[in-house]
Amino acid sequence: MTAPRLEVRLDRIGHNARTLVERLGARGIAVTGVAKATLGSPAIVQVLQASGVVAIGDSRIENIERLRGAGVVGRMTLIRSPMPSQTDRVVASADVSLNTEIDVLARLSEAAVAQGRVHEVVLMVELGDLREGIMPGDLDAVVADTLDRPGLRLLGIGTNLACQSGVAPDAANMAELSTLASRVEDRFGLVLDLVSGGNSANLDWVFGGGDIGRINELRLGESVLLGCEPLRRTPIEGLHTDAFTLVTEVIESKVKPTVAWGDINQSAFGEIAPVGPAPLPGSRPRVIVALGRQDADPDGLTPPPGMAILGASSDHLLLDPGSTRVAVGTEVAFQLDYSALLRAMTSPFVTKVESWS
Ligand SMILES: *Cc1c(COP(=O)(O)O)cnc(C)c1O
Repeated sequence: MTAPRLEVRLDRIGHNARTLVERLGARGIAVTGVAKATLGSPAIVQVLQASGVVAIGDSRIENIERLRGAGVVGRMTLIRSPMPSQTDRVVASADVSLNTEIDVLARLSEAAVAQGRVHEVVLMVELGDLREGIMPGDLDAVVADTLDRPGLRLLGIGTNLACQSGVAPDAANMAELSTLASRVEDRFGLVLDLVSGGNSANLDWVFGGGDIGRINELRLGESVLLGCEPLRRTPIEGLHTDAFTLVTEVIESKVKPTVAWGDINQSAFGEIAPVGPAPLPGSRPRVIVALGRQDADPDGLTPPPGMAILGASSDHLLLDPGSTRVAVGTEVAFQLDYSALLRAMTSPFVTKVESWS
């Protein structure tokens, strides 16, 4: 079979999604399944939909369009603020978008009116992580503006933490979101259907057992796909962490000196080799697999037990194979973190093989 290839076990993703949908459902929280790391894979999205998620979220309109083009129906949310130049496409393919800017809301409304649709919007509030979000003090003004737009329906409010600054969702910031939701409802005399508390980083907070307040939905990607929570990257009990495997092929296997020789300067990616502790003098087996930074993030790959990653350039990944004898042509399989998964999924050089294992 061709390499490098990303083997995707759809049943394991389905198990993870169903398990999280059930556990969160018991606390009154619905799940939007975030598919952005899958490059709009119809097979993965349909597995998520069959597992009880209430919507599919993606950060790229291209992925949502790809899904629609493949005949995937069901509710879809654009989870990155729309580009003003793409508002027509957003209204045409997504049911909902997350928003922070009045100018974008104005364009979405115009596009919706022109297309004879009503586009639903969630207003994102900044609660300290300093990525997207309306400052809490400005929320009422944006709500008022949204309510005046004929093409829009205000579905709710939301926030996103733990992405830019690693700010953990906790009792204080989640209570603030709940308070803001109730305040908007009181001031404007309406009901917000959705209070979207965040992403996979919210799971510790949910299962910590405290008051979840008004939060009734989370947008989950990493926890569903990789079975781990993103704050400390610990595996979540009962979930599969191996739904994805990256299989590579060995193109060189030799015994070489452990220390480079010659006039040592910067390597291709700016590191002064060797990185880490100085190798013991002598010679060691040294293996190259045909995989590079164009295919996956080498820092996010876990090699098989006993093997170690020595370094990577655009097209070569160097391994110390430990005590295993690795012949040219052998396949070596890696586990991936979210960053490596994202790049492998979006690399045209990596073949995706989806199966029910
Ligand atoms: C990526 C993303 C998510 C999903 O995050 P995970 O940590 O993968 O669960 C949720 N919301 C927004 C706005 C995102 O960009």
